[in-house]
Amino acid sequence: MEKILELKNLKKHYPIYGGVFKKEINSVKALDGVDLDIYRGECLGVVGESGCGKTTTSKAIIKLHDPTSGEIIFHPKDHKDSYDIARMKPRHMKKNGLRSKLQMVFQDPTTSMNPRMLVKNIIAEPIIENTNIKGKALEDRVVELLEMVGLTRNHLYRYSHEFSGGQRQRIAVARALATNPEFLVLDEPTSALDVSVQAQILNLMDSLRKKLNLTYMFVTHHLLVVKYISTRIAVMYLGKIVEIAETEKLFENPVHPYTNALLSGIPSTDLDIEKKRIILKGDVPSPLNPPEGCRFHTRCPFAIELCKKKEPVLEDIGNHKVACHRKDEVQELISKKFA
Ligand code: SF4
Repeated sequence: MEKILELKNLKKHYPIYGGVFKKEINSVKALDGVDLDIYRGECLGVVGESGCGKTTTSKAIIKLHDPTSGEIIFHPKDHKDSYDIARMKPRHMKKNGLRSKLQMVFQDPTTSMNPRMLVKNIIAEPIIENTNIKGKALEDRVVELLEMVGLTRNHLYRYSHEFSGGQRQRIAVARALATNPEFLVLDEPTSALDVSVQAQILNLMDSLRKKLNLTYMFVTHHLLVVKYISTRIAVMYLGKIVEIAETEKLFENPVHPYTNALLSGIPSTDLDIEKKRIILKGDVPSPLNPPEGCRFHTRCPFAIELCKKKEPVLEDIGNHKVACHRKDEVQELISKKFA
């Protein structure tokens, strides 16, 4: 499989200043050492509770902020070189034709659209910024993009407020596709939509990924949505990845106690299977002072002394990676404790 992105020990710490001299006294560790390979053509779902680092990771890739340290290696198609974009300046990215290859679709499309602009201009804007296409060719390209997302030429001369939520999200997707990107971050793109419309947008995104050979990072806290659209899933907790596997494997055989707890909250569709809910104690600790050792130990029902002292590393267990000292025993422990 061909890698499109490699995140290496990626960190994002937000400094906290205090005292008379306003010195840095602490930092919020929003991302604290993420290693992740993303493969061309896949849809990688990233899940976890609020504050786990999933949005921080995606925004670092799209260059909405610079990470504190670590690398983001981008392997663009048709380039003989790879680029560490972690600290690359926007003008260098643009000069190398990289900026347009990484795009994002936000949860609420209205915030990314100027209400005084016609749909034609909303979609044309990134094309004008990144290419020399003008006049009739520009309009033809905008129509082509509208048709790709299930809209038509008739929608060119309307304003965004004249559309439904689902149609606005289609316009946002058309705009994101305008520069022929290779990688798209989808940040909760359906969570503001009605359930029936959600399914339409998910199906559209899935077919566009296959048709255009796009790679997605789908960020959400909605497990059934991520199961539906993702080919692989990374589970994050307090700034770290704790488990990553193909979607089917993760749902059929979750290993990390945190993943097991998350999945136990999904109601079973099989009436013969009585699911045991794993209720976690307490709240997610503050990223200002994450716990020593395994960050999950303060809430984990299976924590032992070792977990408080030594941080587990993300280990490969056969196309499936898990960070847990007790990974080989978890299933047995769950069946004993929650039987
Ligand atoms: Fe729980 Fe220990 Fe595994 Fe962390 S390392 S998830 S505390 S059993």
